[in-house]
Amino acid sequence: MKKGLLIVISGPSGAGKGTICKALLEKQDLWISVSATTRKPRKGEIDGKSYFFLDVDEFKDRIENDGFLEYAEVYGNYYGTPKASVNEKINNGEDVILEIDIQGALKVKENYPEGVFIFILPPSMDELKKRIIGRGSETPESLMRRFKSAYKELNYVSKYNYAVINDKVDIAVSKIQAIIAAEKCRVDRIKENIIDSKEGIVHEQFYD
Ligand code: ADP
Ligand code: 5GP
Repeated sequence: MKKGLLIVISGPSGAGKGTICKALLEKQDLWISVSATTRKPRKGEIDGKSYFFLDVDEFKDRIENDGFLEYAEVYGNYYGTPKASVNEKINNGEDVILEIDIQGALKVKENYPEGVFIFILPPSMDELKKRIIGRGSETPESLMRRFKSAYKELNYVSKYNYAVINDKVDIAVSKIQAIIAAEKCRVDRIKENIIDSKEGIVHEQFYD
């Protein structure tokens, strides 16, 4: 059975990753992985939907039981991608999105280089700051921490396959849809399935 794509989205806090993923899911059939975190829920966040909110001991238990595809400490809290559900979906032919930080994305890239790695950039650092403030989710300390990290994080863009500037959300989403469509046409992903020595061209629905 043809595997689904693993699409990894990262970028500085406030660049608009969450906003873009939400809009993308409304347009396209994708499965977004729900991460586990030790961060406290923000207003409106729902356990099991926004994140699986765990305490540090529960998180460490899952690390010991090899429950994560990757995990990292980000801005003082742990975040991790549950392994079993992601593997199950990909092996089932579903396209999966991970919205994770750069350390986590690089770990995934080591183990799963056929993933599609997309970096979301804000149009400017000024706009990034405005967006984090506008979201109203951070204390002044946490805001500064996230904003300072952003400068370092920008250096990692070269490790990704694609960079998308999030100026207008709908344009950024269209670009990501174009990236996904192009990745699905890559010969190195489909070469074994498109030509049959007897039949000639195999219809896309029979690629499996
Ligand atoms: P991230 O997930 O990268 O931390 P969010 O998706 O939470 O970022 O976006 C941060 C803030 O910026 C939110 O208040 C969101 O509504 C706003 N935002 C996201 N994208 C845009 C955009 N293209 N233009 C203006 N505001 C945006
Ligand atoms: P936030 O606290 O704003 O929800 O997320 C903070 C950072 O953690 C963001 O950069 C987000 O992409 C990242 N993150 C969320 N889930 C995961 C995960 O499962 N693994 C890793 N490595 N980072 C994550």
